[in-house]
Order: sequence, then C-alpha cells, then structure tokens
Amino acid sequence: MPRFQPDPAIPARYGPDDPVPPNRLIAGVVVRRRTEPAPGRLRPRVDVPMPCCTRWARVLAGRPGEFRLVVCTSCGLCYEVGLHDENDTWDDIPNYLAVLTVLPYIDVTFARPKPKAGAGR
Ligand SMILES: [Zn+2]
Repeated sequence: MPRFQPDPAIPARYGPDDPVPPNRLIAGVVVRRRTEPAPGRLRPRVDVPMPCCTRWARVLAGRPGEFRLVVCTSCGLCYEVGLHDENDTWDDIPNYLAVLTVLPYIDVTFARPKPKAGAGR
C-alpha cells in the first residue's frame, strides 16, 4: 500500500475549526476536533464529530497515549483517534480534544446475525 506523501502545497493537518474538503480526507491527514462528554460516569466516554460527515463516534476516553480505531459506517473511512486532555484549569473536569488520523483504506465488513436462507439483496 502506498505511504502517505505530504504535499507542501496542501495542508496535512487541520485544526478544530478548520473545515476539511472531502478530497483531502486521505491517509495520513490529521484532523483535530472538539469532543463532547457522553452520558455515563463509570467509564468516561466522549462523542467525537467525524470530519467526513455529520456522524459522531462515542469512544472510551482511556489513558493518555491510547488510540481507538473508528470506522465511519456511512463514508467507509477509518481513523485512528487519540484524545488529549486540554483541561488547564483546576476544576479537574477533562476536556478532550480528538486527534483523528485518516488511515489507509480498509475494506471493512461488519458482522451481523446470520441472514435467513433465501433472504438477501
Ligand atoms: Zn463519515
């Protein structure tokens, strides 16, 4: 698989407020997005807006340096998602910035319950 070749004329990193043209969502491009806290306190999760469409991914906050694999089932794009706690105040409430790296295209198939015989198409 060809490796990502940065093009100095085209940005490879996008900030939280930068729109990303769909044709720039190619492997190696990094997109930062602000997250929103997801409900539930036992295992902290955050909602991450997808750069490719209006969908959101709910990911486990985890430990610093951990990454999640997120697949947009609408667009078929795969991302490696890291979360950075941007909290610089004393209230101790995490405030995560998501760093999404577009991964090389992977042909993903989602497992489902076994289809009934004769059903299909
Ligand atoms: Zn999408």
